[in-house]
Amino acid sequence: MQAGHFNDFVRTTLVRAALVRALEANRDRGLDYLSLAREVMAALPFSVRDFAANKSVEEGTPAGQKVKEAMEELLRYRLYADLKRGWRFAQPNLEEVGLLEIAYPYAEDPGFLAEARGSLFPHLSPEETLEAVRFFLDHLRRNLALESSLLSKDGFRKLARLTAEHLDEFWAIDRNTESPVLATAFSPKGKGDLSFSRRSRAGRLFCERFGVDLTPEFLERLVGLLVRHDLLREVEPGLYRIPESALEWRPGDGTPRFDPLRLRGKAEREANTYFARLYRESAQVLGGLEAREHTAQVRPEEREARERRFRREEEPPLPFLVASPTLELGVDIADLDMVHLRNLPPTPANYAQRVGRAGRQGQPGLVVAFAGAFSHYDRYFFGRREEMVAGSVRPPALDLANESLLRAHVHAEWLAATGLALRESVEDTVNINEPDLPLYPEVRTRLNLSPGARQNLIAHLKRVFAYDWKDLSATGWFGEGWLERAVDGAPEAFDRAFDTWRFLYRAAREMRERGHRLAESRRKEERERGERIREEAERQIGLLLQRDVAKEEGDFYPYRYLASEEFLPGYNLMALPVRAYVPRGKGEFISRPRHLAISEFAPGSVIYHEGGKWMPEALYVPPGGLRGRLSKVWICRECGHLASEEKEQCPGCRAPLANKGDLVQVLDLVGVRTRRRERITANEEERFRSGHWVEVAYELLERREAQAMVDGTGLPLVYAPSARIHYVNRGLRRAKERDFFVDLDTGEVLDTDQKREEAKKLGKSVDRTALRVQVTQNALLVEAGKLMEEKDEEALVSLAIALKRGMEALFQVEEGELGLVRVGTLLLYHENAEGGLGVLRRVVEEEGTLAEVAQAALEVLHFSEKGEDLNSECVRACHECLLSYQEQRMTPFLNRHKALPYLSRLLGARVELRRGGGRLEELLAHCESELEREFLRRLQARGVRLPDEAQYRIGEAHTKVDFLYRPNLAVYVDGPHHDSERQSRIDERQREALLELGYRVVVVRYEDLEGGVEAVRRALAEMG
Ligand SMILES: [Zn+2]
Ligand SMILES: [Zn+2]
Repeated sequence: MQAGHFNDFVRTTLVRAALVRALEANRDRGLDYLSLAREVMAALPFSVRDFAANKSVEEGTPAGQKVKEAMEELLRYRLYADLKRGWRFAQPNLEEVGLLEIAYPYAEDPGFLAEARGSLFPHLSPEETLEAVRFFLDHLRRNLALESSLLSKDGFRKLARLTAEHLDEFWAIDRNTESPVLATAFSPKGKGDLSFSRRSRAGRLFCERFGVDLTPEFLERLVGLLVRHDLLREVEPGLYRIPESALEWRPGDGTPRFDPLRLRGKAEREANTYFARLYRESAQVLGGLEAREHTAQVRPEEREARERRFRREEEPPLPFLVASPTLELGVDIADLDMVHLRNLPPTPANYAQRVGRAGRQGQPGLVVAFAGAFSHYDRYFFGRREEMVAGSVRPPALDLANESLLRAHVHAEWLAATGLALRESVEDTVNINEPDLPLYPEVRTRLNLSPGARQNLIAHLKRVFAYDWKDLSATGWFGEGWLERAVDGAPEAFDRAFDTWRFLYRAAREMRERGHRLAESRRKEERERGERIREEAERQIGLLLQRDVAKEEGDFYPYRYLASEEFLPGYNLMALPVRAYVPRGKGEFISRPRHLAISEFAPGSVIYHEGGKWMPEALYVPPGGLRGRLSKVWICRECGHLASEEKEQCPGCRAPLANKGDLVQVLDLVGVRTRRRERITANEEERFRSGHWVEVAYELLERREAQAMVDGTGLPLVYAPSARIHYVNRGLRRAKERDFFVDLDTGEVLDTDQKREEAKKLGKSVDRTALRVQVTQNALLVEAGKLMEEKDEEALVSLAIALKRGMEALFQVEEGELGLVRVGTLLLYHENAEGGLGVLRRVVEEEGTLAEVAQAALEVLHFSEKGEDLNSECVRACHECLLSYQEQRMTPFLNRHKALPYLSRLLGARVELRRGGGRLEELLAHCESELEREFLRRLQARGVRLPDEAQYRIGEAHTKVDFLYRPNLAVYVDGPHHDSERQSRIDERQREALLELGYRVVVVRYEDLEGGVEAVRRALAEMG
């Protein structure tokens, strides 16, 4: 994208500058459609080789002539497209800076003017009459109601082919990324793309300025006159355009041409001065400037070629390389004269790495870093530049106590121990000829280590972790048992890790089937659609099987894929991304982290990728449709907790869910298909602009949180490693109804009433559902309500953001890396970064950290430690402190003074940790007998993991189990009354039903609680 913008800027500037010179050279005559392109071409500071595809072609040869003709045609197109109203503030066009005047010579003819005054403008002078006619023609012309074969779809296609054949990559039109600029048409009756009536702004101005009334009769007479003088032509019944031959290009006199639809401000005038000079004077130096991207998305051969051009080993030289942060990772490129950072890097360490390439070998180098006005992070470091440029390098924040990360390392060692080679495609591991896509039997056999090999592996792992053993054990879950479970669970986890792949593969096959069926239809339209669907499905299958894909580069290269599924470690890979299929070129999948994909890949979003616009149109559908994937969940309005449908009480705050919860139907978002969108209607744009309504809910699954109380304030803090955060997209904010309407068989999203009506008529099964992604992240819960005597929205919101700012500053994390959700008076902070940051834990577990956070927050909010105001100019909030682009919705409530008293109190805070205690108490509160409570205490005392649920109802078996370990270990604690014959018959029936449903059942007898503890321990070990 960046390289595309850069090249576009250079090309546009070169063409405009050449036009300025051509106009100067033809000052007396002006240029018309015949001479325009030829003269501009002559004014370009290039020879044929500078733009030819074949760099050996010579000037003056027939081949050279062809290249020139192609270039002329391209220039004509670009110059016509530039007649449109300058919609880019970033680069005003020649008319806007007063260097170009577009005239209509036929309208200057005295005969024409006399006629116009006679029938239309009797009250105006000839000059004023010309002005009025130009006003009208300019309106049409700036909206490109211009008749030229180049401004049609067909013309553009031909032009693209012509330029691709003869011109180099820099100049040729790339149809993958560039959309055609098309002519519009004017309709006096208001039926075309373009109208002119009293109701429009331009029409109103016209009436006011020239003292006429835009009646239909008036317009008819005006159009008739213009047609007679060939200033307009009727191109279709009732539709008109200006013929290209009616225009003349003349040099401007330095004053911008009046445009009724633009308002001018000081900034624009300054920009215009700058661009006028650029077009007049500096364009020569832009020749040969070109930029190309260097990112993981670019094919490796192409990337290497670009590196060679950049090092000037290959022609033509490539002076600019636009790189993503991958370049940090030691790609071999030459030393640089200049490094431009388009935003500030995450840390001083990244800064050092990125700019380290500038000016090596004793040469000076220039580094330009751009700080965005809307990024709080950028502004923070813009005010503290030395901290970024010469800042201390923070040790990489990698949360060692991140269980899934550690498990991935164990898996890597385990995989090595099995000796299994995964080769280049998933199809070498998974048997794609069987419907269930199982692992090959040989693979499965390989996965089971012999007892000896298992012992060796565990011994090896103990040595690997020996150094950190003590720290890791402090987490409460790590230990020898954990290692063994991780190793023993690896074969199953390995198999499960392919489930996403299986899902995508089945969906692609299903799609191919659907295409086949449609392709046999009798209706031509359906056949064509079927053919298209089939083709797209084939491409997706190719990607999934790694056919025609550079091996290590593909997302589905097995090792890379397993890392993205968090089975293997992969620090620079996105974990469990959501994928969007983009039908560009040979087709490709693009990935986004889940918490961003939930809005960026949701229907109603526009995805910008490689210069094109793409819109999600359908969800991925496994065979059998989406029905089986829908589920309902409660979201508690009191505390934001999420609970499954069968729950009656909120697991967070114990509120009855029927009163205090919302029951929402959800569908997990795995992938979407997109289609290209050239134009987006004003209507759609209006709806999209306000974005999606994404609710965030959470579950504390692991029950290993650390609880703490802040001394003297009564502020409870809970740190929950691996809390499950659910992002639930309830649809576009501007939509009439919540959630999305989805065709459950095809996955298509029906986003208009019309589409829903049609689907209903065709008897399709459509359901309404929210979309969801789930992310396991470290979370910190702060019950801020407990700090405040009365409810004060401003204080709460300001404190919430102030604490976030404090953490961002203290831990040097970017705004986006730390999430904040507010539910009532509860604040939930979570670590968005892959693999966790390990910073939230420190707030609860490290002495004094909370006080440091408060101190950092005070500084950001312009207060001294004593609470003195150090910046009276910031009244409530500014972009240096609380305001932020990302949290715009909170802006009305921000007031830094309201946060001050609370931050001051936290300054002296001592945090008292109570690990694990909370969980036991919670379960105890749920028990129905003293016997159950005693059993729980013994589990705790013997170091056996506590159950996930107490008194849990399992509807299918008509039973309530005393304790449940997820996913499927049920525990009953039977008191003496279970000895009765009737009761034991009932018990037996229920327990058999459970076994049939796939549960393991442990029955603990009142006279042998210790035996029960051991039975649970064994069952857990077997479950892994
Ligand atoms: Zn609740
Ligand atoms: Zn401020």
